[in-house]
Amino acid sequence: MNGSGANVAGCADCGGKCCRSYVVGVTARDVRVLADGAAMDPGDFVRLIDTDKEGFRLRAGGPAKKLCLQRIPETGACVLLMEIASGKARCGVYAHRPLVCSNFPTSLENGGVTIRKNMACGPDSWNLATMDLPAYRRDLIRDEEARAEHRKIMRAWNKRVDASSREATPEDLYEYLMNPPLEAEQGHKD
Ligand code: SF4
Ligand code: SF4
Repeated sequence: MNGSGANVAGCADCGGKCCRSYVVGVTARDVRVLADGAAMDPGDFVRLIDTDKEGFRLRAGGPAKKLCLQRIPETGACVLLMEIASGKARCGVYAHRPLVCSNFPTSLENGGVTIRKNMACGPDSWNLATMDLPAYRRDLIRDEEARAEHRKIMRAWNKRVDASSREATPEDLYEYLMNPPLEAEQGHKD
């Protein structure tokens, strides 16, 4: 996934373990940026997965779903991972990758940047002292803002679904995510 600073082991030689190991959940902002930037249809890279947390519904009272990147069934790799040579791979949408990818493997803890525990990179792969922490912090805050917007869009979408007798399709949802009405971006306090 490769963040904003060099790691000790080197993402270049890792082969993209993170892009093969995780189910990558994305926000509405990530879908828009990726679809616009890479000129792709959301249906080419998003899949909906049932969640027991708050999520998008396609019909009133239906199961909640979260937005995730599609994976190649045989390998588990993200569909956007480009295999270059044996053991080498890189993100095919690097400039437009989701914030969770560009921020990996960091998180914000009490306002400070930390390295997540037990990530795919292996122990001691990252050293905070050698990383561009202001850039990580900026992007982690940007991700928090994107998640707040995501929740507003989700709630506005679900309100529409609940008011309709028609079951929506994933394509209906993707279209909505690409052009959320103003009400979805502004409404609903978190
Ligand atoms: S979008 Fe790129 S960085 Fe993110 S999981 Fe897919 S290949 Fe990896
Ligand atoms: S698993 Fe870690 S070292 Fe490997 S590509 Fe991902 S972030 Fe880089």
